[in-house]
Amino acid sequence: MQQLTRQFIDNHWVESAGQRRLPVTDPYRQEKIAEVTAGDPADVDAAVAAARRALPAWQALGGERRGAYLSAFAYTLAARRDELMRRSSRNNGKALAEAAIDLDDAIACYRYYAGQAAELKARQGRIVEHGLDGIRAQTYEDPIGVVGLITPWNFPLVTSAWKIAPALAAGCTIVFKPSEVTPLPEQALAEIAEAVDLPAGVLNLVHGDGEGIGAPLTTHPGVDKFSFTGSNAVGEKVMRAAAKGVRNVSLELGGKSPILVLDDAEIEQAADWVVAGIYFNSGQICSATSRLIVHDALTEPLYVALGKRIDAIRLGDPLADDTDMGPMSSARQREAVERYLAMAREEGLVAVRDGRHRQLPARGEFVAPTLYRDVPVESRLWQEEIFGPVLCGRSVASDEEAIELANASPFGLAATVIAGDVERARQVGQRLRAGSIWYNSEQVVLPETSWGGFGISGIGRELGSWGLAEYLQVKHLIGPEAGRSA
Ligand code: NAD
Repeated sequence: MQQLTRQFIDNHWVESAGQRRLPVTDPYRQEKIAEVTAGDPADVDAAVAAARRALPAWQALGGERRGAYLSAFAYTLAARRDELMRRSSRNNGKALAEAAIDLDDAIACYRYYAGQAAELKARQGRIVEHGLDGIRAQTYEDPIGVVGLITPWNFPLVTSAWKIAPALAAGCTIVFKPSEVTPLPEQALAEIAEAVDLPAGVLNLVHGDGEGIGAPLTTHPGVDKFSFTGSNAVGEKVMRAAAKGVRNVSLELGGKSPILVLDDAEIEQAADWVVAGIYFNSGQICSATSRLIVHDALTEPLYVALGKRIDAIRLGDPLADDTDMGPMSSARQREAVERYLAMAREEGLVAVRDGRHRQLPARGEFVAPTLYRDVPVESRLWQEEIFGPVLCGRSVASDEEAIELANASPFGLAATVIAGDVERARQVGQRLRAGSIWYNSEQVVLPETSWGGFGISGIGRELGSWGLAEYLQVKHLIGPEAGRSA
């Protein structure tokens, strides 16, 4: 059995100082497939020291040459695509086709930031237009420094790519802590750093849990910034820890995103997008559109169409080609979702589909794709992120009511609007409070556009030029134009 007891620090695989071992599981076969160290503060000390040593030279290398490393990263990841798809699928439980989307997203992200790194170099020292005669003002963008990157288990290789790629492009050096639930795919990033000869100390990967690595990393004074993706509870802890020493944070947290079906929508197409929005990755997706807001006129036919599609979702071995939906990523996550299902029973919610409507596979941490209708707004199922294949629906009488209900959430990560009239969908979308809004579309994610949340869904933006800016600090040089002394 694979033992992940060594940390990747300063381009060496060094034995973790931590003595605790955590099981790494295959959630379909329900068996232990590896063990990972829980980590130790001493591992963090060594990784931060290596990252600090590496910082000046990495910054001095310049954006273009850093970009070349990022291109090599993308190339090597692409060369290992099939193997890493299987690794992701095995460790996380996601269907192979979904793991393929993850790999392609990650590869595109490294490629994109290779280009951004080169552009960053080109724009250093650019002249600022202003109205004062004889004064020259220039803009420079410096890396923030050593960054601590912490990711969850739902999209291994993707959530890390969205942080590692812009951080490297910016000239930051990294201490990266992947989720202890899915360390196997993330382990490949250290292997790739080694394969592309990334300078020592630029990317350090330390395995462990919140106690062994997460908390010691966020309290370490040698880290200048944290970028965290995960739950709101832990995000708040990271932010509190970062306050000491006034360190910068970016947070990508939870969501309870709405999907609006307006009264001129085409039912069958709408049903496809609704299903994709919630059951992808077994609902373990921060942008899952888990609140369905449908116009009264379409309520009945839409639920019929959704019921048919849910029945057609094939649950099974994530490694099998004919599987649409795999198990939850862990027994713990299955139990967390089941607590919400028990609440739904107590509240007497009306299930259009739930576990009573299908036979679950004989093994695996499965939750049946579930759909409740007419869910009261006071219900915890309407208000809280469930992070599983559970869709809650409500009907409304107008676009205004739909917009108001959609925006009545402290979260604001994503939203989808579906209408027959595309421009109407776009205009309703524009009035929603969320970072990513799709209209008449599935959840297209582009490296060029931003990702991040309004409200309690987070702070800052990943992807695009905004994602790079999270790792940069701006400075201006202001003085006399050449040839003048005042
Ligand atoms: P989590 O918050 O439990 O864990 C996330 C990471 O934080 C893990 O690596 C974990 O080991 C680490 N951690 C735990 N305690 C810590 C501490 N005290 N200090 C520092 N780090 C600590 O989240 P999870 O269960 O892995 O992931 C699910 C959550 O992630 C959901 O709420 C989901 O919405 C969110 N998520 C958000 C996005 C986004 O882009 N907004 C993307 C994916 C997941």
